[in-house]
Amino acid sequence: ARARLAAAHPQSLARHRAAAAALPGGNTRAVLYYDPFPLTFTGGAGCRVTTLDGVEMVDLVSEYSAGLYGHSDPVIAAALKTAVDGGIALGAPNIVEARYAAALVDRFPGFERVRFCNSGTEANIMALSTARAVTGRGTIIAMAEGYHGGVLTFAHGGSELNLPFPFAFATYNDIAATRALIRERADDLAAVILEPMMGGGGCIPADREFLAMIREETRAAGALMILDEVMTSRLDYRGLHGAHGIAPDLLTMGKYLGGGASFGVFGGRAEIIDRFDPSRPGAFSHGGTFNNNVLSMSAGYAGFMNVLTEPAVAAMNDTGERLREGIAAALDRHGLAACVTGRGSLMNIHFVPGPITTPAPLDAADPRHLSLLHAELLLAGFHIAPRGMIALSLPFGDGDAAEFLAALDTILADHARHL
Ligand code: PMP
Repeated sequence: ARARLAAAHPQSLARHRAAAAALPGGNTRAVLYYDPFPLTFTGGAGCRVTTLDGVEMVDLVSEYSAGLYGHSDPVIAAALKTAVDGGIALGAPNIVEARYAAALVDRFPGFERVRFCNSGTEANIMALSTARAVTGRGTIIAMAEGYHGGVLTFAHGGSELNLPFPFAFATYNDIAATRALIRERADDLAAVILEPMMGGGGCIPADREFLAMIREETRAAGALMILDEVMTSRLDYRGLHGAHGIAPDLLTMGKYLGGGASFGVFGGRAEIIDRFDPSRPGAFSHGGTFNNNVLSMSAGYAGFMNVLTEPAVAAMNDTGERLREGIAAALDRHGLAACVTGRGSLMNIHFVPGPITTPAPLDAADPRHLSLLHAELLLAGFHIAPRGMIALSLPFGDGDAAEFLAALDTILADHARHL
């Protein structure tokens, strides 16, 4: 399959090789690499992208969920154009940031106050630093295999590049063990950080009881609960915390909220975030040249207010539910020891038997299976993430889902003996 991919995409291969002169491995985002080289895309429209070799593909990656609006949404495009025409690097407070902050506070119950930054990574760094500053404590409990950004990545034991916070790791959805860990660390515990559904960790939803236990135990320990909704806030109009009725102390978001441009936001209880009020003596300082950048703010706000209506969010997530059911049925039909996890518009295919409620069982998967499926889907004109993740965009409809399911069925039939 890899050889056929290289034959079908000679210009992508050439670009990959040429790029390596300045970019190590031709790459500047680890997640985009796959063996032997990732395809280069030159553009997109709706839920389709075009490769450098002129091949059109259905986009089921949607920029790892940040591309919720699809490619070249007219509302986003118009907002960007207006912003560019009006001047973008103003060096002062601007109109759109205040509007956007008010809209976020209005929609998401976990935001009483917000502050903007430039990425989900930054939002989480700020939330963790804030938790340590307000509690005067050091330890952070995160979930094993969790992902909270480039320097906050805990897959397979973590990375040498991670921030040197003292982390302790809990098992996702294990109520008893996580409660015990929180109690054991209570004296020095600044915060517990987790996603209400592990995204990068495999699209594994949290049980509501697990989230409720963390809410209760962090409060009892005098520590903060940080919910990372950078990926999951799209799963309900009021965010997944809103759907569950769980109020964290600090909440982070990003991705699609920038309308496709770089974006991050952290916020939470007014009492905590008000400590950033620069007119107060001893306020926390939070700098960042592009924190209120007009491009992300304009694109994000226009999409949020005009495109991302309650029915639009519900429809996208319903399409996702139906697609996930279709994938599960296909895996079943071919008798594979595989499953599909997720919720709404975010899902992940795994080559281990389900159901999966915590990431540990995923270690048993043979990586060659996903690699084969990924390559065969690319050859059939469907772009999914190499790790088996699918994120839908608003333009993706049931017709696209039917095309995908037909292609998946053919691939599974042809390759069942290797899977
Ligand atoms: N948190 C979660 C849950 C994420 O999925 C991501 C990005 N994949 C991040 C944080 C980091 O966001 P960014 O890539 O914008 O830094």
